[in-house]
Amino acid sequence: MTVEERVHGYIEERTDEIVEYLRSLIAIPTQAVPGENYDKIANYVGEKLSGLGFETAVYDAPDDYMVTSGRDILGLEGPRSNLVATLRRGSGLTLHLNAHSDTVPVTPEGWTVDPFAGTIKDGRVYGRGACDDKGELAAMVYAAEAVIQSGVELDGGLILTATPDEEIGGIAGLGYLINEGLVKADLGVGIDGNFGNLMIATNGRVRWKLETRGLAVHSARAHTGVNAIEKMSKIVLAIADYRRDVLLKRQADVPVSPDAKTDKLSAMINVGSIEGGLAPNIVPDRCSVIVDRRTLYTEKLEDVRAEFHGVVDNVAAQDQEVDAVITEINFREGTYIEPTHPWVQEVKGIYEGVTGIPIPIYGAAGSADMCYQINQGGWPCMGLGVGDKESRGHGVDENVKISEVIDLTKVVASIILAKLAA
Ligand SMILES: [Zn+2]
Repeated sequence: MTVEERVHGYIEERTDEIVEYLRSLIAIPTQAVPGENYDKIANYVGEKLSGLGFETAVYDAPDDYMVTSGRDILGLEGPRSNLVATLRRGSGLTLHLNAHSDTVPVTPEGWTVDPFAGTIKDGRVYGRGACDDKGELAAMVYAAEAVIQSGVELDGGLILTATPDEEIGGIAGLGYLINEGLVKADLGVGIDGNFGNLMIATNGRVRWKLETRGLAVHSARAHTGVNAIEKMSKIVLAIADYRRDVLLKRQADVPVSPDAKTDKLSAMINVGSIEGGLAPNIVPDRCSVIVDRRTLYTEKLEDVRAEFHGVVDNVAAQDQEVDAVITEINFREGTYIEPTHPWVQEVKGIYEGVTGIPIPIYGAAGSADMCYQINQGGWPCMGLGVGDKESRGHGVDENVKISEVIDLTKVVASIILAKLAA
């Protein structure tokens, strides 16, 4: 029996235990926003890893990172606790694996199961974070455990991080750790993505709050006021035109998953929420929207900002009564690693060897924390994870196939063995 077979056997025998561990992670709600229980989950995962011989530390991002994350507009509360667990043996290279500990919030309606109960049904575990990113976090922890408990001799450093706020930009999460030099590595994997493909690019993301200001008067004399909702409507339609005429045509030469419904990685913009008005008989003097712009890794942030301001300014130039204020909430960069990079090819080979299926290489239209490893850390990295078409990541009844979690655990264990086995 090879070392790899022994490690994979360890994982298969512990399928029930891995599922229970995933359920225990789901049972700690870590919804962002506001970002809750980050300290609790960091300590919970840290305790398990220190039991395996890792040196663990929990770093809370300081206030200025909270402000840059958009604390005041988003209403962020509580500590931003980042777990760093390090195992060092010998002088070999350092491998960094990251999974995020936060989830998107639960929508109050539509769930048929308790989102924090970890219900098991038809070979799947249900709950918020099941496929994004707690299934991955469980796989990362048990991959390390399987290697260590199988008595494999290691040479090098293994750093596991569980970081918060990924869903809102990761600025006070992995961004903070890498910016501050608290994590340094030679190679990395972002354990966050979908099952069955390798993510070599992500889009960046900028969010703005946009507010129009009007003049409130009695609705019976509406023609004498300035209706902030009407003015906002003009801007919202201009943003939709900008998406159709400009952004959808702006693409990077990176293939995307067929579900993306574009040929290549594409820029994007969306008005995601709107607020305004007090009562039917008052002309509203305030209206605000939140705009989410997905940027290609080839786009510069200054250009992205200038272009968006241009769209709004253009509407204002045609209507003197449009008075709009743009406030940037936060941003995260896009990133890219060549599909031919040796690290990508090596991980692809391992992934295909373990699962026995061809693993395509895609760019993701979404944004993810792997950008911090590549752009700020300067080491090669790609993303892989769990979740299929039925997993409904970010949706109601989010779930993950248990067999995918076990397969991912084996893939990650094989990656550790490939780089760190003595
Ligand atoms: Zn994720």
